[in-house]
Amino acid sequence: MSTVFVINSGSSSIKYQLINPALEGTDAVVASGMVDQIGLPQGKYSIKHDGEKIEHIAAIPDHSVGMQLVIDLFSEVGLDLDTQDVVAVGHRVVQGGNIFHEPVKIDDTVVEQIESLSPLAPLHNPAHVLGMKVARKLLPSVPHVAVFDTAFFSDLPDASRIYPIPQNVAEKYSVRRYGAHGTSHQYVSQQVPELLDRDPATLRQIILHLGNGASASAVKGGKPIDTSMGLTPLEGLVMGTRCGDIDASVVFHLMRQGGYTVDEMDTMFNRQSGVKAMIGSSDMRDLDDLMAAHDAVGQRCWNVYINRLKRYIGAYMVELGGVDVIVFTAGIGENSPEIREDCLAGLEELGIEIDKDSNNHHFRKPSIISTPESKVTVMVVPTNEELAISRQAIQFAE
Ligand code: ADP
Repeated sequence: MSTVFVINSGSSSIKYQLINPALEGTDAVVASGMVDQIGLPQGKYSIKHDGEKIEHIAAIPDHSVGMQLVIDLFSEVGLDLDTQDVVAVGHRVVQGGNIFHEPVKIDDTVVEQIESLSPLAPLHNPAHVLGMKVARKLLPSVPHVAVFDTAFFSDLPDASRIYPIPQNVAEKYSVRRYGAHGTSHQYVSQQVPELLDRDPATLRQIILHLGNGASASAVKGGKPIDTSMGLTPLEGLVMGTRCGDIDASVVFHLMRQGGYTVDEMDTMFNRQSGVKAMIGSSDMRDLDDLMAAHDAVGQRCWNVYINRLKRYIGAYMVELGGVDVIVFTAGIGENSPEIREDCLAGLEELGIEIDKDSNNHHFRKPSIISTPESKVTVMVVPTNEELAISRQAIQFAE
């Protein structure tokens, strides 16, 4: 059984999974867990294996100690990593810029290149680099592979890639629409033709990845022609803590009139906006509770969320020249029948009809939720970014 160790290294956390890429869905996960609050006086580290979770609390001064603790956790649950036939390590990387269009084997040059893209992803790329340096030291005998969130969208057509600002400025500062969540959009959009037994070349798909971060993409013949995230994951849909699309003048206005600094604006729009700003929590389940209680503030937030979703669905239907399949995925997309129903309500004239019974099921597996008469097939397809990363990384195994 060959396995791949998948790492998502953040500034104060390391999420990891040991995966058997030959299996499907949750069956593929041998073990998973995270190290959290690195650098704080008290950190946490945990592992889930065979339905059991072990968690410890300790000071974790840096990523190097954090990664060693992960390796110790594997020994603690009797899964010594040396015996797990780990053939590659896959690293999730948020920003691949104009340099990386596909997964790449990590060497010192690649690490430097990923570091050089930090101005475009200041919270993420430096943290990924830390994780890579530490993991390469601790697991030196297997290839380490970087899998980029932007790669699927790296060849977006000019029409959706370019911001209409002075092009010399855009070029000098690498300003373009890069997209994000690409691993998920690619994984899901490749599953759909297989599931429906259709030729991918003929399919026009709209993928709605609705998690805490949320993004939409329009995929034609297997290739993305547009996506809602831009230079960074801030653009597009309303998210847990991000505002998504906003008139850039709001920034100028608040800086001029409110005296906010650049960093304060960055924090406000990325961490204090979206659903959290409207109801005080970024968790969609809290919004569901407010809706169930007929709360007016909750209803307003719901309307804003749905309005933005509808705007993208409409835009992408027109951009694609019609749509064959609309797919919901990620935490909210897979778990909220109300969101799915509401954003596609009243579109029978456009050939979209949701089957209420199918829509109300819980989904562990891909399912169709449209009626047999619906011209457009509407589906829920659970995403699995770690599995997708493991499958890309194992291609580099020696
Ligand atoms: P991310 O990977 O971006 O952190 P996920 O894809 O895990 O996010 O999705 C997290 C979101 O999914 C949260 O906002 C959470 O509230 C929402 N979610 C999870 N379960 C449900 C549910 N049963 N109903 C509605 N929303 C849910």
